[in-house]
Amino acid sequence: MCKTTGPAVQRTGELTKRGWTAREIRSARTSGRIEQLRQGVYAVPGACRPLRTAARHGGSLACVSAARHLGIWVLEKPPAPHVWMRGHGHRRSCPPITGTDACGCVEHWDDGASPTDAFGLPPVPRILRQVLACRGVEEFFVAVESALRQRLLTRSGLAWLRANVNAEGRAALAIARSDADSGLESLVRWRLRHRGLRITTQPAITGAGRVDLLIGDRLLIEVDGVKNHASRKKRHKDLVRDAAAAAWGYVTLRFDYAQVVHDWPSVEAAILGQIDAGHHLR
Ligand SMILES: [Zn+2]
Ligand SMILES: [Zn+2]
Repeated sequence: MCKTTGPAVQRTGELTKRGWTAREIRSARTSGRIEQLRQGVYAVPGACRPLRTAARHGGSLACVSAARHLGIWVLEKPPAPHVWMRGHGHRRSCPPITGTDACGCVEHWDDGASPTDAFGLPPVPRILRQVLACRGVEEFFVAVESALRQRLLTRSGLAWLRANVNAEGRAALAIARSDADSGLESLVRWRLRHRGLRITTQPAITGAGRVDLLIGDRLLIEVDGVKNHASRKKRHKDLVRDAAAAAWGYVTLRFDYAQVVHDWPSVEAAILGQIDAGHHLR
């Protein structure tokens, strides 16, 4: 995320419009206050690395990289930025990733009205459509719920998205909610969507407080994000919550990021095993 207000990457012309003289630009370059990314393109202090790389490549951040930049949840950090080239961009020479001969940037060539600044991000609905085309419907669904939750997707943005995605995307939009607490929670709901289960998001449970998901009446699902590493204190807190919930007749299943993202079959088997045994019903 950029630590700067205003455009993080600017052309000479934009700097001039903001009152910079040629001499000031030169001296800011020399002193390292601004970085020349390529001829006539500068990064101002606080501009983040993905944004600088995208500008070097010839565009602005797109797709999952733009989503991450705005704080929208995406499954994994891409190794190199996804870059919006607009419809008629020009690929520039972009430094290769160490140990390879390519920069690894993933180009997006969809055309669209450009934001007012040349290196600005695409609007959120366009970012989400790029995610659908590039990463598939599952990651799209998760990103949409994250954007809704953070109020980054307006009513008109949602309408644009509905009109500009395929049938698969529209089906995902139809079930997207604005109250999912984490991307993992969205992912679990998405993957269970065809099972015909009654799933409640973020219910308040007697003895346990807010939990991530309730399936049926009794089965609690808790998913721990990648940042919630199991500190001893957190582990203790979880055990206390699980015991309290159990005292009220609930069964708790807990999964972490690696399980949900990389070993879904075992997560699904655990959930369906409880359901087959009827543990989710009163
Ligand atoms: Zn992409
Ligand atoms: Zn590149």
